[in-house]
Amino acid sequence: MPKITDIRAVQPDLDRAPPDWRRWFGQVAIRLDTDDGLVGYGVSGGGVATTTAVNSLFRDALLGLETTDTDRIWRTMYSVSSRYGRSGLSIMAMSGVDLAVWDINARAQKASMADFLGGAKIPRIPGYVTDPGSFSEARATGITGVKIAVRGHATPDTVVQQIQQARAILGNGFQIMVDVGMQWDFETALSFSRQAADYDLAWLEEPLPPEDIEGYRRLRQACKIPIAGGEHCYTAAEFRRFLEAEALDIVQPDITWCGGMTTLVEVFRMADEFGVRVCPHRGGDVWSLPAIAALGSYRLAEQTRRWTPELNGPFELDDMGYKIPDGHGFGTEIDLFPQEDGR
Ligand SMILES: [Mg+2]
Repeated sequence: MPKITDIRAVQPDLDRAPPDWRRWFGQVAIRLDTDDGLVGYGVSGGGVATTTAVNSLFRDALLGLETTDTDRIWRTMYSVSSRYGRSGLSIMAMSGVDLAVWDINARAQKASMADFLGGAKIPRIPGYVTDPGSFSEARATGITGVKIAVRGHATPDTVVQQIQQARAILGNGFQIMVDVGMQWDFETALSFSRQAADYDLAWLEEPLPPEDIEGYRRLRQACKIPIAGGEHCYTAAEFRRFLEAEALDIVQPDITWCGGMTTLVEVFRMADEFGVRVCPHRGGDVWSLPAIAALGSYRLAEQTRRWTPELNGPFELDDMGYKIPDGHGFGTEIDLFPQEDGR
């Protein structure tokens, strides 16, 4: 059984990240080495917090463990970070290590991640784009949907105007979503949902802060538009609270934040149990596509993060959607780890 001999985390070029929290606490690459020469890769959120946690605390705790003991590795990271962690940055850091462990385990079996998860049910996943510069250009790229991100202090009125423009350009049959980014309160979200009720929105995303599960539950009951959320939920336990409250129509775990593949697999299982769709945040990168293809019944993938192309893996998007990676593991290698660091 392969044992872990090294774990490293590096943060790529900060200059391309959006000028907000993601500049410092954005995506990080993880590399894991084993005693039989296998190398696995993963991606985390969490920036400098993640590189510090992975290169010190997690490395010390995980060296020598067998990679096939995936749950033990996950629980060990959770345990050693629990005094400051259990959510947010610490679970982001855990996510990338977990992905690298899954990558190693699939590579050890010479299997693609989709096959490792039981096999892709379809070869392509339809894609949608978030916040396109132009609706007409977006329409020409082979995607099936457009998501409008609510910026600044945009009111329901201005968002409805954007939806009207989008619908006029894209036509019926094209999916339109709205992402509020946790910025509204219940009354604002309810008012918007009434104004936008006739525009056939695919979903209303993160209208409220993620801790307001009761607000989500009430909104879902009062609103005709499907309610999506979970991009900022951490661990399966948080997703379970939303599902048990019947507060969401669509859950949107980010595999590089929520706890990795270990958590995502459990979210897919629970969502099935509760009859809820799963549409992972940034699902068009190599980390999420295999799970959507193998575990999902709702097949739609958001575009990858554009500012960290070296972490998203090679991808192909055409009129049929995103191609499922077919190389071993997640089918990608990350070339950011210096050889001369003495390890
Ligand atoms: Mg979002």
